[in-house]
Amino acid sequence: MTTDYLEVHGFETSYNKPPVDVTPMTEESFARSFFFIYAPEHTDHRQFGLSGKEVWTSVRFYYFHDGSVIGMYNDYRAGKVFYLHGRLCDHDFVPVTPEQAREEGLPRPAHCFHVSKCSKCGYVYAVDSSD
Ligand SMILES: [Zn+2]
Repeated sequence: MTTDYLEVHGFETSYNKPPVDVTPMTEESFARSFFFIYAPEHTDHRQFGLSGKEVWTSVRFYYFHDGSVIGMYNDYRAGKVFYLHGRLCDHDFVPVTPEQAREEGLPRPAHCFHVSKCSKCGYVYAVDSSD
């Protein structure tokens, strides 16, 4: 997942807007999120106005292979961290065949190398299950 992916699939790429609609996430939800299980596919930093706040907030976003997005921002004076959550897509992954990989220039699936493509947004997820 790259900035190109965000742009190609119509997600917001402006530095001054969130990538998708985001909502507050509790610390408990964050503690149980993908953040501690998977490496993010992409990260970026944005600055925009959160509802109810007069000043712009700096938010660090983490994008995960399941289409979820987690944002974090801080209140320096209060010494607190806050969390946001959003979704780029509710992926519907379909396995990529070797023929499809060749035709579309995708990674070629093999014994322990699984390649899937979302039927909704086109995101390609490849994972080596032998790792
Ligand atoms: Zn998708």
